[in-house]
Amino acid sequence: EELEEGEELRQDLVCALCGEPIVPTDSGDKPYTGDAGTAYEGQPICDTCYDEDTCEPAATIYYGSDHDEPHLIGSCRNETEGDFRVEWHSTDPWRGYYECKSDEYVEVFTDAILSGHESEEMLKKLYDRVLERFDEEDIGFARVFCRSSNVFMTSLEIWVRRDFVQLLKAHAIIAQAKGEVDYDNPLYSTGILFPRENLEKFKALLGERYKITTDKDLADLAAEKGGDLLTELVGAVKGD
Ligand SMILES: [Zn+2]
Ligand SMILES: [Zn+2]
Repeated sequence: EELEEGEELRQDLVCALCGEPIVPTDSGDKPYTGDAGTAYEGQPICDTCYDEDTCEPAATIYYGSDHDEPHLIGSCRNETEGDFRVEWHSTDPWRGYYECKSDEYVEVFTDAILSGHESEEMLKKLYDRVLERFDEEDIGFARVFCRSSNVFMTSLEIWVRRDFVQLLKAHAIIAQAKGEVDYDNPLYSTGILFPRENLEKFKALLGERYKITTDKDLADLAAEKGGDLLTELVGAVKGD
């Protein structure tokens, strides 16, 4: 099916985001088009949508230890020149999170900052130490914050240039910094998904049958065993 010339023009001038026609202020004005590495790459976008796209960014990227110049990714704008792009993962109709992808950088560290949890302070220390060492070793890195629908959680990600030597150095620095801040202390991996006293009770009852150290261990076990785990737990309480 062939489009008439006028028809094609009209299609070109509809905003791919809001569906409103794009009216050029001066004849010959070209509409914005979605940036590379976005869901609307190459498609026409109206001025309003383009201007407001990064008000609630999907991801915020800082290059190196610079704190002043965030590079934002929205649905049609990407201020990282395509270094990073985002994918939305929905966990249910109302919730989900963005995940970053990159061909230029590799993720070397990720964790969730939970406000008010014991790990918050430790992670900040780890983060400062790693960034300081990366700077000293001239490692090309970026810090990536992806938006999730959980307002109590911010994902903290450190990405390093896809370069073998830099990646080796980066992993060595992170391992050393983890030791310095006692990263593997169970204090930091409990009290997140389950109340700590319940985890302790569980270990007292079924600790010989299952090796549980962190909240995640218990969550994984519950997923694997399903309802059987509760039956076992009830049995253990009764002293079966
Ligand atoms: Zn629009
Ligand atoms: Zn991400």
